[in-house]
Amino acid sequence: MGRLVLAGTGHAHLPAIAAIGKIIGDGHSVVAINSGDMHYYSGMGPGMLGGVYRPEETRFPVRRMIERRGATFVKGRVASIDAPGRCVVLESGERISYDVLSCNLGSEVSWSVPAASGKDVFPVKPIDNLYTARERIVSMACEGRLRVGVCGGGPAAVEVAGNAHAAGKKGKSGGCRVQVFSAGSVLGGMPGRVGRMAEARLVKEGIEMFSGHPVSSVESGAVQLESGAVYPHDIVFLATGVRPPAIFSASGLETGPDGGLLVNRFLQTPAFPEIFGGGDCISFAPRPLARVGVHAVRQGPVLLNNLLARLNGGSPYPFEPQAGYLVILNLGGGYGIFSRGAIRFGGRSAFWIKDFIDKRFMLKYRE
Ligand SMILES: Cc1cc2nc3c(=O)[nH]c(=O)nc-3n(C[C@H](O)[C@H](O)[C@H](O)COP(=O)(O)OP(=O)(O)OC[C@H]3O[C@@H](n4cnc5c(N)ncnc54)[C@H](O)[C@@H]3O)c2cc1C
Repeated sequence: MGRLVLAGTGHAHLPAIAAIGKIIGDGHSVVAINSGDMHYYSGMGPGMLGGVYRPEETRFPVRRMIERRGATFVKGRVASIDAPGRCVVLESGERISYDVLSCNLGSEVSWSVPAASGKDVFPVKPIDNLYTARERIVSMACEGRLRVGVCGGGPAAVEVAGNAHAAGKKGKSGGCRVQVFSAGSVLGGMPGRVGRMAEARLVKEGIEMFSGHPVSSVESGAVQLESGAVYPHDIVFLATGVRPPAIFSASGLETGPDGGLLVNRFLQTPAFPEIFGGGDCISFAPRPLARVGVHAVRQGPVLLNNLLARLNGGSPYPFEPQAGYLVILNLGGGYGIFSRGAIRFGGRSAFWIKDFIDKRFMLKYRE
């Protein structure tokens, strides 16, 4: 009988966590490793920043979920994987052996600008940073007018900008001034109309948009642009895109061009068929995938099936990414933008649809 190790308890591992009872019932043991006792659901993170959700509504108590089902939870950070020795090595030096390993270690904000420093600089991943940022915004907005800078122009940047602005309104005096600095056009990776709709909404709310203004550094509370202009801020968010952690390349495992764990259509590494992976930390060999929760969530059941197939003997399923996917942006203040194929609209109804989908997802796995 085998030992299954779940490295990271992100979105793609939720079905495996739910099935721990069955896996143990089949005669195996399960160990799950995560850096925290909670896992935050990214879809509701910006809403938590804006004050629509309480933090406890947006997170999974993964330690409790795992231990209640009879598995072992280890709080710690994975540092590397000794694939030939079939061991996960933690930053503490602890080594955890496995027969089958599944990696769902997420991603980190890619920030190539040196000296991104200062105590109120918040990368948008991990998502729990948004909770700390909200506390700072609310308390600082009470003390006086607050300046917030957002570096980046993708979906996370516009959601964080809109919701930081909404959080600032909770303060007694003056609200907050939000400035967004993006190297290219806003939401450049999405259909043009979505970017224009988002920009128009943020500008209407009083948010200042600096499109085509790359940031060169963030130092001592100021955002410096490549043009030389300097904008002082009290709080800065880094939303410059994400990349997989360096764990896989540092471990000598085969990776994709951006360092993600290379997996085939069965979410399995070609050289070590006992190692699987899902979510933002993988590079899907058949074709590049956007690093969005939609893929991580849809990979979850495939990953569970294939882990069971490896442990018990059985047929793995291929992961078939959907061609397009629904995007609903939460721009704060109960306003959303809906985009799916040719259908696009903005308003409260878009936010309500997102709220419904996100709460239903939480209910499915949370306890
Ligand atoms: C602000 C924001 C909003 C977003 N909104 C959406 C959205 O609405 N819809 C959507 O589809 N996508 C959204 N995304 C993208 C989404 O966050 C990711 O695609 C999604 O989180 C990927 O899920 P995952 O399970 O792979 O990783 P994660 O959600 O990052 O989970 C990884 C887990 O592993 C743990 N971990 C990380 N490193 C280690 C380590 N070394 N050792 C141990 N544990 C570790 C983490 O604590 C975490 O619990 C958003 C992203 C951001 C930044």
